[in-house]
Amino acid sequence: MNTYMRLPVTFVKGKGMWLWDDQGKRYLDALSGIAVCSLGHCHPKLVKAVSEQAGTLIHTSNLYHIDKQEKLANKLALLSGLNKTFFCNSGAEANEAAIKLARRYGHNKGIDLPTIIVMEQSFHGRTMATLTASGNRKVQAGFEPLLTGFSRVPFNDLEAISQVAAHNRNVVAILVEPYQGEGGVNVPQVNYLKELRQICDENGWLLMLDEVQCGIGRSGKWFAFQHSGIVPDVMTLAKGLGSGIPIGACLARDMAAEVFKPGNHASTFGGNPLACTAAITTLDVIEEENLMCNAMEQGDFMRKAFQTQMVNVEGVTQIRGQGLMIGIELSKPCGNLVKDALKQRLLINVVLDKVVRLLPSLVIKRREAKQIVNIVSTLIKKFYEYKS
Ligand SMILES: *Cc1c(COP(=O)(O)O)cnc(C)c1O
Repeated sequence: MNTYMRLPVTFVKGKGMWLWDDQGKRYLDALSGIAVCSLGHCHPKLVKAVSEQAGTLIHTSNLYHIDKQEKLANKLALLSGLNKTFFCNSGAEANEAAIKLARRYGHNKGIDLPTIIVMEQSFHGRTMATLTASGNRKVQAGFEPLLTGFSRVPFNDLEAISQVAAHNRNVVAILVEPYQGEGGVNVPQVNYLKELRQICDENGWLLMLDEVQCGIGRSGKWFAFQHSGIVPDVMTLAKGLGSGIPIGACLARDMAAEVFKPGNHASTFGGNPLACTAAITTLDVIEEENLMCNAMEQGDFMRKAFQTQMVNVEGVTQIRGQGLMIGIELSKPCGNLVKDALKQRLLINVVLDKVVRLLPSLVIKRREAKQIVNIVSTLIKKFYEYKS
């Protein structure tokens, strides 16, 4: 169906940071399939592990034990401190699970019509519950009636949450992205998650973090919450988890981990041996190749280099991000930069009409980082008709 405005290019091969189109032209990929290909394209260890697993066992069913799923869950528990995982196949499904978990948590406490606090400019997916939770009218328009049970506040506004706490006795959880992705690569104040944790503790609410985009090493740590010294009750993952093999996960700890009982929630495909093998290998390679450290270093380098290159470009409103989530906000709509970059054989993305977003894979090297900074800076200068 006509759901995407596609760019005029077809890729047929990939390796590391690079893609080749059907004419044999090579492109530098600064988007990695929207934060999906953590290890770059076709990392040899991933290709080997997935190929071997495909030749051994692809799918059984969650009606049986799945050794690779248990191994992955144990690994995620070790890395995150969230000891239980429900596996699914996408970010929307992971958030759908979190929303259902929060509602059932409310019902268990005698709250029949539970409310979840969500943020402006947030993005949680395209299913009915997750588009309702998203703070973007564009993803909701035309799909009414939306769900009830959500209360919206501005991102990075603790006072607004205290107001809701004082007036709404049905609140059961806060759902928030530690760093907003689709909403323009927004970074909250340093103590934001810590304060949210405290508000949740005081009120008996679940703190639920959507790390679908910022998780799995991209922020410079395994999970974005690890920059803040807190642990959430629930966390959702997807995009970068399987390096391109579809897998999503909703993790929980303690009380929150005990909410679902057999029959409450399910997924036919979720956590099958093939997808779990891709995720286990992704995590192993991130560890072996020290890719979180690389994400931090290259991300910091790129933001600084952009600052330097564009110091005199008045239209550049802000350069922000964390690790390999990079946003360059311009003063006016700049969607055409995506096509201009494509002509220079560079893949980038623009969100909210005027934020250039870069999400390169975690294997990016300094040489490629410099190349991206140079091409993007030149394009933005040209966009504002500065001579470079
Ligand atoms: C992409 C994204 C989703 C939705 O993931 P899908 O796999 O497309 O369903 C949810 N939350 C965040 C933060 C995302 O970036």
